[in-house]
Amino acid sequence: EEQMTKHNLIIIGGGPGGYVAAIRAAQLGLDVACIELDKALGGTCLRVGCIPSKALLESSEQFSEIKGDLSSHGIMVDGVQLDLGKMLKNKDRVVRALTGGIDSLFKKNKITRYLGHGRITAPGKVTVSGKEGETELTADKIIIATGSVPATLPGIELDGDRIGTSTEALTYGEVPEHLVVIGAGAIGLEMATVWRRLGASVTILEYLDRILPGMDSAIATEALKIFKKQGLNFQLGCKVTGVTTDGKGCTVDIDGADSIHCDRVLVAVGRKPNTAELGLESVGIETDKRGFVPVDEHLATSAEGIYAVGDVIGGAMLAHKAEEEGVACVEGIVNGYGHVNYNTIPAIVYTAPEIASVGQTEDELKEAGIAYRKGEFPFIANGRARAIGHTDGRVKILADEKTDRILGAHIIGPHAGDLIAEAAVAMEFGASSEDLARCCHAHPTLAEAVKEASLAVDGRALHM
Ligand code: FAD
Repeated sequence: EEQMTKHNLIIIGGGPGGYVAAIRAAQLGLDVACIELDKALGGTCLRVGCIPSKALLESSEQFSEIKGDLSSHGIMVDGVQLDLGKMLKNKDRVVRALTGGIDSLFKKNKITRYLGHGRITAPGKVTVSGKEGETELTADKIIIATGSVPATLPGIELDGDRIGTSTEALTYGEVPEHLVVIGAGAIGLEMATVWRRLGASVTILEYLDRILPGMDSAIATEALKIFKKQGLNFQLGCKVTGVTTDGKGCTVDIDGADSIHCDRVLVAVGRKPNTAELGLESVGIETDKRGFVPVDEHLATSAEGIYAVGDVIGGAMLAHKAEEEGVACVEGIVNGYGHVNYNTIPAIVYTAPEIASVGQTEDELKEAGIAYRKGEFPFIANGRARAIGHTDGRVKILADEKTDRILGAHIIGPHAGDLIAEAAVAMEFGASSEDLARCCHAHPTLAEAVKEASLAVDGRALHM
């Protein structure tokens, strides 16, 4: 008879959705197993996503600041040089430290880790295929947290080198002379920013007639202006029909426009759910049109005892959204109650300036016919922004016309990604713009711009 190892809960995937679910389940007393096919835990986010991209954004920003003109600060620099190899090694070191940290968290929480590919074979049954063969596991509950992989376009075959995705763009061995980025979403813009700062000429091609689809359109327009000033080239409303490479360079064909020749192409047109060889058919789970695993409000799939969280179920494909779902799913299983407030999940683009958003955009409010009031405050009128020399951008607060409840906050400017947390917390607490405006904010801080924008909702900003 087959040997089966029994756990209370099996989680397939060790990314932010899976590993956080595992930790929370262990805290709640479950015997948890987490299956991850990569040696490193942490998923896309830690290995080839959020963390390495932010490490390179930081390094490249320092490089361009120091290389740029600091004379207004009275700092004269010359002879600044780039050691790309070292920069990439630093990024790898950051990734290693964090993925290793999750190994420690697993040990501390007594989570059993299986290295290999997990496949569901029946309700409550999962087979792990690893180097040492197959292991059969059983559990009362299973959580699918297999995440996502980069998508491409028809006519573009990724070659894992010249024609690549963000994964390759995190490891280019030399600064491309000319990089073409297809897709002006968060990932495309972040990687474009990194290589532009390191010296590449960068062209961004976008099918829509705007950048950052989904973000507040006025903020996106302001961002476009700033990015152009930084030397990024944009071709909007442009349909890429094919990309070819001869191993040294690439040709990008565009519908109704000249082809572009470049050294490398980064395809950043979104990500698709990862359900390869997962055995969904064995338990009757059917994916939706776009391949996502459908779930109900408890994150339960159509199969008894099987749940799914994170990128694989769609929605905002963000690490913190996956984490929230991991926690809510496990608390639902153990306590009978768990909840994610999808209206207060921030979204951030880590360019300079950063762009951050929570709640509804003005475009969405208009479309829904919701009456709102708007307060805006520019960073140029903020003392701290002046002192640090980063005055581009502004804060926008949107509040319900009748109740004054905050419906959305949109920030472009220095440290927008950190500033948005305040608006997210306020919204979670059901705050009005008046509530936020009456909170004391330390001076001189960038956060004062959030207070001032809240005051501006009622036409009473103090410093404008
Ligand atoms: P994943 O992180 O994709 O993890 C899934 C894991 O499951 C993977 O490790 C995979 O190896 C494993 N797996 C899959 N199938 C199996 C199987 N059958 N058996 C065993 N293991 C399996 N999000 C942000 O919030 N902020 C950012 O700044 C940000 N930056 C990003 C930058 C880039 C370049 C990219 C690509 C993504 C970025 N994201 C960012 C998105 C973020 O990485 C994802 O939203 C997040 O990783 C999703 O978490 P997840 O747990 O659902 O899936």
